[in-house]
Amino acid sequence: MKKLFLFSFLFILFVALAPTAQSQRYSQHEIDNFFGDRGEIYFKCMIHNRQDIHILTRVISIDNVKGLELYAYANRKEFDAFLTYGFDYTILPHPGTLLSEAELNPFGYKGSLQPATTWNFYPTYDQYVAYMVGFTTTYPTLCKLDTVGTSMQGRLILALKISRNPAIDEAEPEVLYTSSIHGDETTGYVLMLHLIDYLLSNYGTDAAVTNMLNTTAIFINPLANPDGTYHGGNGSVSGAVRYNANGVDVNRNFPDPKVGPHPDGNAWQVETQAWMAYAAANHFNMSANFHGGSEVFNYPWDTWAKLNADDDWWQFVGREWADTVHKYGPAGYFTDEINGITNGYAWYEVNGGRQDYMNYFHNCREVTVELSYDKLMLATLLPSYWNYNFHTFLNYITESHYGFNGIVTDTVTDQPLAAKVFIALHDKDFTEVYSSLPTGFYARPIAQGNYNVTFSAPGYFSKTITNVVSTKWATTILNVQLRPLTYGMQDKVVTSLLVYPNPSDGKFKLILPEYPANPSSCSVQVINTLGSVVYTAEINPEPGNTVVNISIPDLQTGLYFLKFNSGYRIYLDKLIIKR
Ligand SMILES: [Zn+2]
Repeated sequence: MKKLFLFSFLFILFVALAPTAQSQRYSQHEIDNFFGDRGEIYFKCMIHNRQDIHILTRVISIDNVKGLELYAYANRKEFDAFLTYGFDYTILPHPGTLLSEAELNPFGYKGSLQPATTWNFYPTYDQYVAYMVGFTTTYPTLCKLDTVGTSMQGRLILALKISRNPAIDEAEPEVLYTSSIHGDETTGYVLMLHLIDYLLSNYGTDAAVTNMLNTTAIFINPLANPDGTYHGGNGSVSGAVRYNANGVDVNRNFPDPKVGPHPDGNAWQVETQAWMAYAAANHFNMSANFHGGSEVFNYPWDTWAKLNADDDWWQFVGREWADTVHKYGPAGYFTDEINGITNGYAWYEVNGGRQDYMNYFHNCREVTVELSYDKLMLATLLPSYWNYNFHTFLNYITESHYGFNGIVTDTVTDQPLAAKVFIALHDKDFTEVYSSLPTGFYARPIAQGNYNVTFSAPGYFSKTITNVVSTKWATTILNVQLRPLTYGMQDKVVTSLLVYPNPSDGKFKLILPEYPANPSSCSVQVINTLGSVVYTAEINPEPGNTVVNISIPDLQTGLYFLKFNSGYRIYLDKLIIKR
């Protein structure tokens, strides 16, 4: 008995210590060798339960979770922190080293620029820059090149704005595609170059593409983290790494809605700052951020369990994305999680990701799309992945037109306004949208339904439009005018019969020409023929009631003007008093 007890005790002790023993399976020197000059390692570990994800996501850069198998990257500091938790782990070959130079560049395209026709190769860094510049010289009326920023090692972060009249801010949705913020996830890099080429070369011949460029501003950044992708040198993507040159995962470095400005404990990297400035300088309505390592449409939120206000829209758009890929791709492709789509947090929690940052801090709809299991894919497979995906790339851009959109202007000047477009009892966590200057254009992609939409701007009366209908795959145009809080001689005046009886003895009914946009801010003034205001009252009509009784006992016989401000327009009528 005693012996058995001792054995059990030792067994329990062994099990309890086992993870720690596992953690020390490599010496410091061996671990140094795994890091090499990459600054990061790729590994998997077994977690005990899903709660461990919430702890580890603050320690290392989780890349995938399959059941209780967690895949992650870490720099040396992150890995040392990870080891203190005692999880069983295995260091894996780095994804950037799995393919040979010949597999990544089977056609020997080096040095000279190749014709942009097949996109079955990874360009060198210099070729990439030359292509981006080349598009603007070949199609100067359809695109313009933006420098989003410069990487830590001085490489260019470039985005091409593709639209008819690219130099002008037009009243049209802005859609951003960006790839390879994880430098070793390069499928999207080449597919985005291919998409640029496709859009530009089909303008004027393909009706759908022509219409798309006439009505949409499409921003494409093929390479968000060039230092990571060309870690092995500018001549090849071989040796690409996930992190930036500072050993930081840029896609964990953004301000986070839940955790705060620096969720990873690092200062904002130059790449992060460049993206933050670019997001602030534009008004992206929708965006997709392309990754690799899985095959799934990962929609907000990543950082917390609560659902996005537009969760039904995200599921609809995600389902469309995956279904379209399934139609054109081989069986089994893009079927991770729920047949190709997942709520971000339900898969695994991420803090500091760009997706949540764009949604929360820039009122944008950004999704994370994992395009292929292989992070660095055989170059010869790239055209197939283009065929699987390009229809869905186009559909998602088109989706930016659906829901309702329009232009907000000032009632007095007809000038465009920057206004907030908010749906009470629906919007939360900054899902509302804004019209932007200089056009006053806003776009509100939203699931099919009826909505009461409130437009507001500083210095203006708010206005709620009730029962705005959104139908799937359709655009409801909703142009709205807001009335300034101050009004004077320059006001547009709408005259209509308001007063009954007229003449009166000072007791009369005011028949409102419209139910006030904001009952608490609507008022009546009586002005005499000398222009002096002799009576002012706030009026607060019952909901739905457009008749208001007014009594002004001390008004002398004579002619007056009655001015009614509905919170939206000024109405004026003559008022005759006879005593
Ligand atoms: Zn990624």
